[in-house]
Amino acid sequence: MKTEQVARELANSIGRNKVTTALEDLVCYSYDVSIYNHKPDIVVRAETKEDVINVMKIANRERIPVVPRGAATNNCGATVPINGGIVIDLVSMNKIREIDTENLIAVCEPGVILSDLKAEVAKVGLFYPPDPQGMDMCTIGGTIATDAGGPQAVKYGVTRNYVLGLETVLPTGELIKTGGKTMKDVSGYNLTQLLIGSEGTLGVFTEVTLRLLPMPEAKRTMMCVFNNLKDASVAVTRILNNKVIPSMLELLDKTSAQLIQKYMDVGYPTDAEAIVLIEVDGSKSEVDSQIIKVKEICCSCGAREIRLANTPEEAEAIWAGRKSGFAALAAYKPVVLPEDCTVPRNKLPEMMDKIQDIAKKYGVLIPTFGHVGDGNAHPHICYDPRNPDETESVKKIEDEIYMAALALGGTVSGEHGIGITKKRLMPLQHKESNLRLMAGIKKVFDPNNILNPGKAF
Ligand SMILES: Cc1cc2nc3c(=O)[nH]c(=O)nc-3n(C[C@H](O)[C@H](O)[C@H](O)COP(=O)(O)OP(=O)(O)OC[C@H]3O[C@@H](n4cnc5c(N)ncnc54)[C@H](O)[C@@H]3O)c2cc1C
Repeated sequence: MKTEQVARELANSIGRNKVTTALEDLVCYSYDVSIYNHKPDIVVRAETKEDVINVMKIANRERIPVVPRGAATNNCGATVPINGGIVIDLVSMNKIREIDTENLIAVCEPGVILSDLKAEVAKVGLFYPPDPQGMDMCTIGGTIATDAGGPQAVKYGVTRNYVLGLETVLPTGELIKTGGKTMKDVSGYNLTQLLIGSEGTLGVFTEVTLRLLPMPEAKRTMMCVFNNLKDASVAVTRILNNKVIPSMLELLDKTSAQLIQKYMDVGYPTDAEAIVLIEVDGSKSEVDSQIIKVKEICCSCGAREIRLANTPEEAEAIWAGRKSGFAALAAYKPVVLPEDCTVPRNKLPEMMDKIQDIAKKYGVLIPTFGHVGDGNAHPHICYDPRNPDETESVKKIEDEIYMAALALGGTVSGEHGIGITKKRLMPLQHKESNLRLMAGIKKVFDPNNILNPGKAF
């Protein structure tokens, strides 16, 4: 009864075409890339910030949970409406409002697809570096709410390094603006940075102001093939110690390379223990000298083969394999859990060994690839839920992976976020005092606990 009344009020307030309670819609909005699902009671497809304000005001008055949703590519259950309520879909708010070439700034709505923004700014010689590998699907709003990173984080940092300002609707329906077009701002607490990575629990972004860079003049890709993981890890450390910061530095283990190559022929060797993919960028002369240096280092560390891409197409093929990693694993087993442990860079070889030990202990394949330059490994637990033995060990495997990461001084999430899947791990990483502060912040922003409740901590 309450649902029908609220749906009617929402329809009258923002327009009938933007509100649905049809079962087929509710099912479509019941999942993301995690293993969780739960149907919302109402779906709203917001088109303007006024729509968002109206939804929040009604939901706050009625104490109805609201889950903000971009493209739902997160893999931690962050957009699953576990308490029912309203899912507010933001993908129709997809206008790029301004590309300011004087200040190197873009202003856009939250539903803009990341690769569309990257392509648009590239047309005027500019560069927006954050590059989560789901960039052809995910939205700017989602990347900010998860503080997404990608291969280029090793040189350029993650999403939070590029967000200058946010327009946000609070759970109460109040509209706030934080930050803006200035490069510096130390007036008061940095609310913009607090909102970044808040997983849709503090507010709904309706407009974002982003910092851009000039597009580097040149770039070059190479693939280095190693007969053991240790040599590959040493090569990575030496590259960074020799003052070369590649624009991308990724590692794939043998199983990942085999499954990717099976899925699409990108020329990855299937008998090597480790493949390191490297891109360097900068001026033409910088790129040439970096390539020579990286090549020498990898050879001295025992690389058995170094393949240099000679054309943009060859480079694209090398990176296409990495980008399709998740899809390749999903073709291998019905369920793939992309884990996300990050350790201090110099501890990554140890972390990779631990992952292999855990895989052996449980007799499962855990293909691992990731942003090796950031110490960020993505071990993928692949299993078939119809097989009780495999399903039974999944939680134990996850726990062992994250306990190993924490023991090495790492974190339970480098970039994917906490959502539902990692909530149980938060007390292992954060002291009670920290969790209490987080809960206090949530209460200030969301006194009635209606915005994405039950997520993150
Ligand atoms: C194939 C694949 C590869 C991936 N690779 C990477 C990677 O390399 N690096 C990485 O970091 N992640 C990666 N991801 C995870 C995912 O793509 C990112 O987390 C992405 O940022 C999510 O964007 P989205 O639009 O899909 O957000 P959603 O999944 O819709 O939402 C994510 C969170 O943001 C909140 N949210 C969404 N929009 C708003 C808004 N406007 N205001 C407030 N909160 C909002 C939601 O409530 C939720 O908590 C990958 C996922 C896939 C499927």
